[in-house]
Formats: sequence, structure tokens, C-alpha cells
Amino acid sequence: MVSRLLCLLALTGICLASPLGDLEKELKKEGVDLVKLHEELKHESEELEEEFSSKDTQNQLAKLRAAYHTCSNDTIQEKTELEVNGDLTKDLFEGDIVLTKEQWARALDRDPNVTLQRRQALTDAIKMWTPMGAPIIPYSYVDGFPEDKKPVIIASLKFWEGRTCVKFREATETDKNVVVFNHISPGCSSSVGMVGGKQTVNLGSGCFSVTVVAHEVSHAFGTLHVQSRSDRDNYIIVDTANIQQGKEHNFMKDPPYYGKIDNYGIPYEFGSMQHYHEKAFAIDTTKPTIYAKPAFTQYQGSMEAPRASFYDTLLINKLYKCTDKCQNKITCQNNGVQDGADCNKCFCPKGWAGTNCDMRPDSAIMIKLISNQNITVTVEAGTDEMKEILYIIEAPVGKKIQAVVTSIYRFMYSMCRTVGVEIVPSKDTRVNGFRFCGKPDATPIVSDSNQMLIWLYNEKANPLSADIQLTLV
Ligand SMILES: [Zn+2]
Repeated sequence: MVSRLLCLLALTGICLASPLGDLEKELKKEGVDLVKLHEELKHESEELEEEFSSKDTQNQLAKLRAAYHTCSNDTIQEKTELEVNGDLTKDLFEGDIVLTKEQWARALDRDPNVTLQRRQALTDAIKMWTPMGAPIIPYSYVDGFPEDKKPVIIASLKFWEGRTCVKFREATETDKNVVVFNHISPGCSSSVGMVGGKQTVNLGSGCFSVTVVAHEVSHAFGTLHVQSRSDRDNYIIVDTANIQQGKEHNFMKDPPYYGKIDNYGIPYEFGSMQHYHEKAFAIDTTKPTIYAKPAFTQYQGSMEAPRASFYDTLLINKLYKCTDKCQNKITCQNNGVQDGADCNKCFCPKGWAGTNCDMRPDSAIMIKLISNQNITVTVEAGTDEMKEILYIIEAPVGKKIQAVVTSIYRFMYSMCRTVGVEIVPSKDTRVNGFRFCGKPDATPIVSDSNQMLIWLYNEKANPLSADIQLTLV
């Protein structure tokens, strides 16, 4: 806002020295040469363009662009932290991460002998909170933090406490390392990992939802974004022609040893809470900057998530070795794992519940499919908190289920960040399914067993319904 005001003043002929934003002030204080940093980022942007410039990649992109199903113009444009941050991103890493001087040095340390290759894993410069296995993060608020915004913060912290071994407590005078929630900010951002001393999670207007706060807090735990993983080229192609000029560096790729051991065994997940949405930093906001590769095109509209997925949660539990301390190892059914928050039970993937993940959730709606059927699924308005509902469809053994989403109403959104219908066709429900929130793509989805999940989630002020055609195949 300040910079816009200055632009306006400049246009009217009133000259003002451009004051540094708080973030730039902090970086300068740390001894970061901002001119050099911006030059380095420009160079990274040029390298990214080069990375995707090969004839083969451009041919693949041309096909993906031609096949892309553009949403109609009447969709409601949603904003994520990337859009909220706007021009701020010139001093941030991957759009919403505040790096320290040491972290920037690692992130930008190119290998002079290998084109497009950085030498050091940024993750080696990310410190974890302590003690490992049961970390406790002291937190506080900046002076004047609005009382009415605190429940969103608390809900986000409780969300993580309920599924990991990370615990939070209000900071005392003697705490050295503290996460401070700051509302006086032009955007949403966080440091990555434990920086040492006071570190802020910046939440300006547009950042106050559990979706955004939990995402930023995940960065404070030590996570980066999924689309920067070293193996991302197996899954996505970045369309640099549609990225706003100077923002290309946000799509940089981590060196191959990111995550130390094979990304902690976590598969690449389009529907992760830490994945960019498909139109991140787009010039033409009706077209993607990230295309799913041909083998994964059904995930095109399903990048990022309203809440941490099973694997997003598992990553935090692995980063902090949450279950290593559990004396009794527990056997979990249906791909569940020992719960990072409670050694005596399993953490279950979607559609499963109970101590050992062998029961269906009480709240789920069960539908036995004995013949072809058209159903209407509904979730109520989620004004103060996200409302969700899970439908579990079961066909006779030996049969599979084909689903076609024929309509979604009442409103259509540009991305499925806060409202949507997700169809999970795999028996392994750790994996995210395919999401719908705008004009439905009529491509049939077929289950790989006699089970299918339909998950509806809604943070909006209106209920959401969808018509789905179910066929036994
Ligand atoms: Zn982020």
C-alpha cells in the first residue's frame, strides 16, 4: 500500500525518497546487500527461463497449453499468500519465505561448473526447534495485535498440535527463541525453521485464515514448497512465458539432496498444502504457470490444499522424529501410521478412523452402490471455520466406481483453496484426489478398488453442492 501511495505521489510530481519496507530494513541490518541480492535473483530468473527453454520442453508445453480447460470468466478470483504479497516477493524466497543472510547465501550459491545447479542444500541451513521428538515453540503477539484475530492463530496452532508432536506455549520473558505473530505487515510470510531470537510470522490483511496461518507456521517448522523439490521435473513443467517478469526465481529448484534422505520418503504431492497453486505469479490469470505433466493431467486443478494433507503431516512428524520415542510400536491398518501426537494410536488417512484405522469415521456418510446412481452431495456454509463432510461410496466386491461431476453450485471459484469437492479414487487414501470448484471437467474418474471417497470442504459463506453421476464398472 505504501509503495502504491509513493507511485501515486511520484506521478503527481511530488518526490519522496522511497523508504525501505520492514523486511528490507531487517535484511540490511543483517548485512545483506540488497542490490546484490536483487541482481542474484534476476540471474536466477534468467536461469529458470533457460531451464525450460529446450525445444522438447516447449513442444510439450504447447500441447499442454492447447489442452488446458480454461475456466469461464465468471469465477470468483481467490487470493493466496502469493497474490497478497505482490511486490513484496522481491525480498522473499519462493514468494512467502523470509531467509536469513546465511540461508540466502546457500540458496543462491550456484555451481560454476554445472549449469543451473546450486551447490548447497538450503535445508542444511534450516534449524529445527528443540527438543527433537517433542519440540516446544514459544509464541507471542506484537503489541496491539487485534484480539479478534487471535482465535485464528490458536485454531492453526491447535490444528498442528493435534496431529504432530510439536507443541506451542505462550512465551515468557526468559524465552530466547520466540515466534511472534505480527499483523502490521503488507503480506503473509514466515522465516523457515528456528532462526534464533525473535522471528515473526507476518500476517497482513488477507492472511487471517487457518489455511494461510497453518501454511506459514509450517514454514516456521522448517518446510519449503513442494514444487521446488529436486524431483519436480518428473511431475511438472513451468511455463515461464506466463510468469510475471522478475518473479521467475520463485520457481527455482532445490539441489538433489534436499530433504537429505529421499525427501524423507514423502512422495511428490500436487495436492499438498505447501504446493503452489497452478496460476502462481501468472501474467494471464486464466492460464497456469505450472502444468502437470501428461501422466498427471488430472491433478491440474488440484494443486495446493485447504489443510495439511496426510503427507504434509507425516513430513512434520518425520522432521521432528515424533514417533521415534514411542516405546510400543503400534500396528495400523489401511496405510495408517503411528500418530506423532499420541503414541497409543494411529494417524489415519482419509476415510479411516479408530485406534488402528480399521473403522470408518462416525461423521462419514456411507453409500452402498448397488446400481448406477446420480447423487447430490452438500456441505454447509463455513463462515467461522471450515466445514467438511466425507462421503464413502462402496460398490460390491469386484466392481469399480466411475464418477463424473456434472455440476457444482452455487458459486464457482478460480482455485480450490478454500472450497471444493475432492474425489479420491485410490484405495490408498494417503494420496490426494482430484478437486473441483469451478466448471467441472467431465473426464470420468474411475476407482482402483470397490471404494471411492468424496470429500467436500468449505470456508465460504454459502453452502456448496455438487451433482455426481456414479456408475458401476
Ligand atoms: Zn509458502
